[in-house]
This record gives sequence, structure tokens and C-alpha cells, in this order.
Amino acid sequence: MAILCPECDTPITIDPDEVEEGETVQCEECGLDLEVISVDPLELAPVEELGYDDEDDIRDIDEDEE
Ligand SMILES: [Zn+2]
Repeated sequence: MAILCPECDTPITIDPDEVEEGETVQCEECGLDLEVISVDPLELAPVEELGYDDEDDIRDIDEDEE
């Protein structure tokens, strides 16, 4: 079974018998980490990395330096 990577649309082949919920798989093409949120039906979701919420704050600081 193949799931399309949400980032680069590369088919990621996954055997539902080989993975468990909560496991992460990685897209070989772009390196995106995907978490198995369900195995029946097979569903993957990008792993949200902590700290990205601060992205807007970092951008504000850069603008102040101009
Ligand atoms: Zn990808």
C-alpha cells in the first residue's frame, strides 16, 4: 500500500502489517517525518515539530533589524 507524501507527492510504500499507530515513517524523497495516526484505514500525518509556533516572532525580530 502506498501513501502520497503531502510534501512532495512521492508514493511512500507501507505495509500496514509492519507499522503500528504512533510510529513514524520518513519520506525517502524529502525526508518529511510522517506519523501513523491510523492503520485501518492507513492514515499518515506530518509530525508537528515543537517550536515552529515561534516562527512569526522570529520574523518580527528580523524586520526590526532593517
Ligand atoms: Zn516527501
